[in-house]
Amino acid sequence: VAEKETLGFQAEVKQLLQLMIHSLYSNKEIFLRELISNASDAADKLRFEAINNDALYGNDHELKIRVAFDKAARTVTISDNGIGMSRDEVISHLGTIAKSGTKEFFGKLSGDQQADAALIGQFGVGFYSGFIVADRITVETRRAGADASEGVRWESAGEGDYSVEAIEKVSRGTDIILHLREGEDELLSSWKLKAIIRKYSDHISLPIVMQKDEWDAEKSETVLKDEVETVNQASALWARNKNDITPEQYEEFYKHVSHDFQAPLTHTHNRVEGRSEYTQLLYVPSHAPFDLWDRNKRGGIKLYVKRVFIMDDAEQLMPAYLRFIKGVIDSNDLPLNVSREILQESRDVKVIREGSTKRVLGMLEELANADEQEKKDKYTTFWKEFGQVLKEGIGEDAANLERIAKLLRFASTASDNADQATSLADYIGRMKEGQEKIYYVTGDNYTAARNSPHLEIFRKKGVEVLLMTDRVDEWMLSFLTEFDGKELVSVAKGGLDLGGLEDEAEKKEHEETETSYKELVERMKTALGEKAKDVRVTFRLTDSPACLVADENELSGNLLRMLKAAGQ
Ligand code: ADP
Ligand code: MG
Repeated sequence: VAEKETLGFQAEVKQLLQLMIHSLYSNKEIFLRELISNASDAADKLRFEAINNDALYGNDHELKIRVAFDKAARTVTISDNGIGMSRDEVISHLGTIAKSGTKEFFGKLSGDQQADAALIGQFGVGFYSGFIVADRITVETRRAGADASEGVRWESAGEGDYSVEAIEKVSRGTDIILHLREGEDELLSSWKLKAIIRKYSDHISLPIVMQKDEWDAEKSETVLKDEVETVNQASALWARNKNDITPEQYEEFYKHVSHDFQAPLTHTHNRVEGRSEYTQLLYVPSHAPFDLWDRNKRGGIKLYVKRVFIMDDAEQLMPAYLRFIKGVIDSNDLPLNVSREILQESRDVKVIREGSTKRVLGMLEELANADEQEKKDKYTTFWKEFGQVLKEGIGEDAANLERIAKLLRFASTASDNADQATSLADYIGRMKEGQEKIYYVTGDNYTAARNSPHLEIFRKKGVEVLLMTDRVDEWMLSFLTEFDGKELVSVAKGGLDLGGLEDEAEKKEHEETETSYKELVERMKTALGEKAKDVRVTFRLTDSPACLVADENELSGNLLRMLKAAGQ
């Protein structure tokens, strides 16, 4: 198909473009970071495909990114010799947004610019951010392995549509040509572009080159020379010495690997030596992604082998309950041609996964146990965003159960709000004299749990009860039966044994009451027949006349409802 075709953007792209140009204008320099990030990804993809097909390199083995400007044409061009795109790829990658949850995300936008700007930042805008500074973008690309005649030109003014046409393209890879908007001329300067690259893209491991320039006294202006220079450090950030990396560089690298616009909460960076040698640089994001609950979603870890990118989303490197962690793992032991299948069986991978899990738990403990308010606040954020996922670890990772249990936070009757802020250790520290167990109640939501009739006796005795209202809680509790030698018991189960909380006089009184109600209880049992397994006199209520309880060995009412809802 040689002739030029005009196609419409997906509805969400149109919305994104409109919103972004206005809301991100104050932060417009990020367009360069996004386009360089894409160029670097394209080089990674080529390197990976070329492991089994060296011919893809042709006679051009030296991967790099080039940034250039043309004062007369008023353009800035970002070029790479990476994987490039076919016509179909151009249409699907630059005409739609492939992220899952896109529709839901756009449904949430309010129309209020300030609020939406913050949301857009979370969503990430990638390629389209070029339109912040350009009123027209031309993309010329040729996929690795394709003929010079199979080049593709994509062009758009960032409004409703774009055009695609076939072109001759001599070199492999992609050129992104930004036709600058009125008033953006400051970008037509080596000095300015270099400053932006050093600020946002220094961590990129490929060389980012620009043409050198020098002052011409005769013309009294700077002129470009025939030489190029590398603007960034051009070494893999994770392979550098920790002391040589600034917090800003760590942050920008995070944004590159995660495709997230917001800063992470914290990171851990280690070189592990010994039986298995690898480097890990792992981050905790500051907000949950839109597809946190998508079961098919893979992990956020990029796998490298000796600096060569192997794959995104290497889910074998992190347990499922830590799927929100982003970052890079670079192994010295795995073979370059490692596949997902090999990863599944590999002993090296198992060692890496176990080591990384411990590092991540350590990183979370550092926030959870910190004295500084800033770190405490970070843990609160972490818990709000990812607490429910971490709870899955109680059932999935028996080896680390105790460490994970210490990281759990719950709502509690000790506070008057729904915040999940009480740790099991906090609870134990507040236990009453004579109390031997950790009590909890489960419910569909905070209000339901808080108003449970099962809590009456505890309120009367001043005993704290944890309020469990997340969907995973019941499941988690079937694995978390004790903490620090104290049993966790549901206040809604069976004959409640308050142990040392009951004094002798109370016990005697209870026995007497039971005897005097014996006849009534028998009559009720007969009346209820099969409907109830047992009828008992209870001392757990103070206001309500009666309540239903589950048998000690049975599933609780809440879990039964959940399983039924799941079709079990
Ligand atoms: P993301 O990088 O998060 O996937 P972007 O909007 O930045 O989203 O880019 C969209 C897609 O367009 C990329 O995933 C990639 O497939 C394609 N793409 C963008 N720039 C390039 C490039 N320079 N070379 C090859 N493919 C590219
Ligand atoms: Mg991108």
